[in-house]
Amino acid sequence: MHIAILSRNSSLYSTSRLYGTAKKRGHDVEIIDHLKCDIVIEQDNPKIYYKSKRLDYLDAIIPRIGASVTFYGAAVVRQFEMMEVFSAVHSQALVRSRDKLRSLQLLASSGVGLPKTVFTNYSKEVKKLIESVGGAPLIVKLLEGTQGHGVVLGPTKKASESIIEAFHAMKARVIVQEFIEESKGSDIRAFVVDGKVVGAMKRQGKEGEFRSNLHQGGTGTLIKLTKAERNAALTAAQAMDLQIAGVDMLQSDRGPLILEVNSSPGLEGIEKATEKDIAAKVIEYVEKAVEERKRNPSRKKKAKKHA
Ligand code: ADP
Repeated sequence: MHIAILSRNSSLYSTSRLYGTAKKRGHDVEIIDHLKCDIVIEQDNPKIYYKSKRLDYLDAIIPRIGASVTFYGAAVVRQFEMMEVFSAVHSQALVRSRDKLRSLQLLASSGVGLPKTVFTNYSKEVKKLIESVGGAPLIVKLLEGTQGHGVVLGPTKKASESIIEAFHAMKARVIVQEFIEESKGSDIRAFVVDGKVVGAMKRQGKEGEFRSNLHQGGTGTLIKLTKAERNAALTAAQAMDLQIAGVDMLQSDRGPLILEVNSSPGLEGIEKATEKDIAAKVIEYVEKAVEERKRNPSRKKKAKKHA
């Protein structure tokens, strides 16, 4: 099989693990920088060139698109879909997963638990806003933030008001969320592949830090999920139409609460914490999906229409 990993940096842990694993399993693999792809649009003849080479021989792509380049990255993925190349992440699902508000709306309608959340268009009614998530302490999140940047704890009503007003004054959109104190600076990352949780870890923020992101100094350890946590992870991934997903959730007194669903989940933290070969699970899924499409070509057409 010809597989391309769409990634800007071949030395990233996830990229090199996927590359090495696919190679070991006998595939022709290349790493393609999606920002260096040229998309040629013409009637019924979609093409992609990469450094002047035409990419017309690929069976599958595995997008690893960073949040800052979602727009162009998704366009490249969409073009591959038009060319009937299997993508491990649908372009639509990728774009949707990058929109925090839309994701929360979709997740809410799927019935999974969520922290109480408010989003407004720079409302002047800041006091009301604070009350509607149950008062302080609360969490304010920049809509555009990733890896824990732009996630702020408002310890009191007064401080929360100032934080929200400051963001509004900067024309930065935020969501305001109830603070789940009982999660004690930890969260759970469940890695879902093809309708199964293939690994899960608990991340604990460093001393005195409510954010558990590994990028903020948190540490990950293996955890066995409860049935409710496993179900929440699978429902969330399905609601987002992601076959490969990193589902983040908080443990609360009222059960698991989904924080977000990541469409390019990193492999390093989860493989180290679980000592599992998650990269192999991803490649196995891609192999299976491409085989299925070969046996049933109408699926290809459906995928193209879906794009
Ligand atoms: P990002 O997408 O930037 O990682 P998150 O929404 O995942 O932002 O928040 C980062 C971290 O902050 C989470 O992993 C979690 O540990 C903590 N956190 C986020 N929201 C809440 C909340 N409502 N209550 C308690 N802790 C939270």
